[in-house]
Amino acid sequence: MFAPITDTIAAIATPPGTGGIGIVRVSGPEALPLACRLFHKKGQEDPVRPETLVSHHLTLGHIRDPRSGEILDEALVVVMRAPRSFTGEDVVEFQAHGGPFLLRTLLALILDQGARLAEPGEFTRRAFLAGRMDLTQAEGVMDLIEARTAAARKMGSALLRGELGSEVRRLRESLLSLATRMAAEIDFPEDVGELVDPAAMLRDLEDVYLPTLSRWIRRGEDGMRLREGLRLVIAGVPNVGKSSLMNRLLEQERSIVTDIPGTTRDLVEESLHLAGLPFVLTDTAGIRESGDPVENMGIERARAKIREADRVLLVLDATKGADAPSCLLEAEIRPCPYVVVFNKKDLVEDAEALVLPPSWQPEARVAVCARTGEGMDALKKILCDLAAPPTMEHAALPNLRHKQAFEETCAALSRVRAGLEAGDFWDLLAVDLDTAIRELGRVLGEHPEPDLLDRIFSDFCIGK
Ligand code: GDP
Repeated sequence: MFAPITDTIAAIATPPGTGGIGIVRVSGPEALPLACRLFHKKGQEDPVRPETLVSHHLTLGHIRDPRSGEILDEALVVVMRAPRSFTGEDVVEFQAHGGPFLLRTLLALILDQGARLAEPGEFTRRAFLAGRMDLTQAEGVMDLIEARTAAARKMGSALLRGELGSEVRRLRESLLSLATRMAAEIDFPEDVGELVDPAAMLRDLEDVYLPTLSRWIRRGEDGMRLREGLRLVIAGVPNVGKSSLMNRLLEQERSIVTDIPGTTRDLVEESLHLAGLPFVLTDTAGIRESGDPVENMGIERARAKIREADRVLLVLDATKGADAPSCLLEAEIRPCPYVVVFNKKDLVEDAEALVLPPSWQPEARVAVCARTGEGMDALKKILCDLAAPPTMEHAALPNLRHKQAFEETCAALSRVRAGLEAGDFWDLLAVDLDTAIRELGRVLGEHPEPDLLDRIFSDFCIGK
C-alpha cells in the first residue's frame, strides 16, 4: 500500500530556541554519504569517509560548507546504520552548538545536499512503517513528548515499550487461530473433521476474550481521564465556601470570595495538578431558587456542568450540615459519584461527628477549613485516589482510538457469542470474528489507511 521509501529526510530534532546543544537528524538511504560530504574529522582536510564512521559511536569533527570551505561549527556526529536505528534506516545525527541560526544554517546545508525537510512525525512514521514499532508504540512516543504530568509520562513510556501492543497481539493471534480452524472446517468439512469445539469456544469468549476487552475499555476510560484530567465540579448551595475551596485547591485567588450569596454567577474553570495527576476543576454558581435572571443562567450552567462531571465535590457548611437546600441538591447530583466536603470546620466542635442522611451515598467525606487550609491534604489524597485508583495497576492505558476499536471488537465478539448460542452456521460467525480480528489489527496499525497515519502523525512535532 505504501511506496518504498527512497528519499532522505532531515529536521532539527531539538526544540526551537537557544540551547547548549542542538541536534539535526537525517534519515534515509542518502543520510550517510550526504552527512560525510559536510563533516571532517578533527585535524583532517578531507571529508570523512562513510566506512570510517563506526555505528553508534560519537565522532568529533568540524562541519564545513562544501562550497565555500567555511567551517560552521565543531560538532559530534553519530551514525546509526540500518536496521539498528530509530527509523530502521541509516540515521545520522549532528550534535552541534544549540543556536537557532546555526542549526538552521546546518539544516539548509543538509537540504542543499539533497535531503528533504521532514514532515511532522515523519521519523516516527518511518519507524512504524519499517516495522520497528506498532502503532500503539508510535502513539506512546507522542504521549511521552506531550506528557505534562508524571502519570502521563509513565503511560506514554509503557505504551512505547509495547505493553498494550503485545497484549492486543496475543488476543488477536488467538482469534486468528480460531478463524483459521473455522475456515478449514467450512472449506473442507470431510477432510479436517471438528477443529473447533463450540462449547470450548463459547467458554473462551465468556471467560477470556470478552472480559479482557471489557477490562481494556475500562482502562481506556482511565486513560482518557489521565490524558485529559478528571473533571471535578465544586457544587453546593450559596455561601458554603465553594470559591474559597477552589482557591485553596489552586493555591491562588481565582474565584471571588464574599459573604454575599450568589456572587459566582458563571463557571470558573482551571486545570490543576495534584501529585502528578491532572484535574479540570470547575467552581459553579451556588444552586438555589433565585429571582435574578443572570444568577439563574449561572445556575443552569452549573447544572449542565454537573451532568458532565466525573466527580462532584458537594460542599456543605459544617455549621448547617445537610440542610434542606443541600438535600435537594444532593438528589439532583446523585447520578454522578460525589465526595462530601464539610467546610468551615473551624466553626464547629467536631466536624467528623457530623451525620449525613442515610440515603446519601458519597464515595468519601472529609472536613476542611478552606480559610486556613486545614484538612486540605486529606481532600487532595481523596482526589488523587479517585483519579488514579489502586486498581489502575496498568500504566499502558488505551487512548480514545484504541478504546473505540475495543468497543467494536467487543460488539463483534458478542455477536459471535449470540450466534454460537443460537446454533448459527460457521460462515455466519466467521464474518463477525473477522471484524473482531480486523479491529484489533487496526489498533496495532496493520494495513493502516494513509489518512489514519496522517491523523496520528500530523500531531507530532517536526524532528520526531
Ligand atoms: P461560595 O458562595 O460557596 O463560593 O462561598 P465563598 O467561598 O464565597 O465563602 C462564603 C463565605 O464563607 C466567605 O465570607 C468566606 O470567607 C467564608 N468561608 C469560606 N470558607 C470558610 C472556612 O473554612 N471557615 C470560615 N470560618 N469561613 C469560611
